Amino acid sequence: MHDFPVSDIEQCAGWLRESSACVAFTGAGISTESGIPDFRSPGGVWSRSQPVLFQDFLQDEDARVEYWRQKCESHEDFARAEPNPGHRVLANWDARHLLRGVITQNIDGLHQMAGSQHVLELHGTARRVACLECQADWEASAWVEEFRASGNAPLCPECGAWLKHATISFGQALPENVLNEALILSQSADLFFAIGSSLVVEPAASLPRLAARQGARLVIINRDPTPLDETASMVFHHGAGEVLTAIDMAFNDA
Ligand code: NAD
Repeated sequence: MHDFPVSDIEQCAGWLRESSACVAFTGAGISTESGIPDFRSPGGVWSRSQPVLFQDFLQDEDARVEYWRQKCESHEDFARAEPNPGHRVLANWDARHLLRGVITQNIDGLHQMAGSQHVLELHGTARRVACLECQADWEASAWVEEFRASGNAPLCPECGAWLKHATISFGQALPENVLNEALILSQSADLFFAIGSSLVVEPAASLPRLAARQGARLVIINRDPTPLDETASMVFHHGAGEVLTAIDMAFNDA
């Protein structure tokens, strides 16, 4: 039995029915139910190790090795993970043209695995490794194995520059084209779901604020309170999968 009011779920299902421009924005919290830890919760990645800053990666061999060590660890989580009910509900809304797109901070590729077609990855993807110079890229597993075998940060076989996962590290600029698309999508939304994000990382956290300012109804689904809870039309401090499933069922029942 869920402890959120059925009337709140029905309200959201009603808004989804009325909406002609619904957008979802997701963070690490939508994937914890797939076994991938988030950063900021107790037991999250940051309680175990500090992320390597982009500048340090560029300047220091020890930092590059530490980066690859951390990535080998998280690679296991990603390789094992399957989409959960939260990812599947969003993919289903995408297939039924109820959703204009998913903007995600996640790097795990689980929205695409669930079948979502319109996904904007603000922080790139950990499924691939890319050269920082010539942009050649490969599936990540082979390079993770290479690092495990050699203990050395790998170099691009094409041009000899550093290889790094195709993700945005702290201190690295977000891809401008993806960010612009995300801004346009958020600006045009009439209903905006912010799911599993602490909403404290900029500029990504400004997207729900922008949508709300432009008149969208903002629905926040996050286990812990966020700085935008006051601005939202509806807030659920519950698991993403159970809330999205309940809204989907209410939508289908009507
Ligand atoms: P965060 O760690 O700052 O916050 C996650 C939020 O999700 C927390 O506030 C927590 O209360 C909530 N949460 C956890 N489990 C939940 C659940 N089952 N249902 C609902 N809410 C839940 O994450 P963030 O704001 O997304 O940002 C940090 C950065 O971490 C992002 O840039 C992202 O690139 C990176 N990251 C990605 C992954 C991934 O790809 N799965 C995992 C860890 C970190």
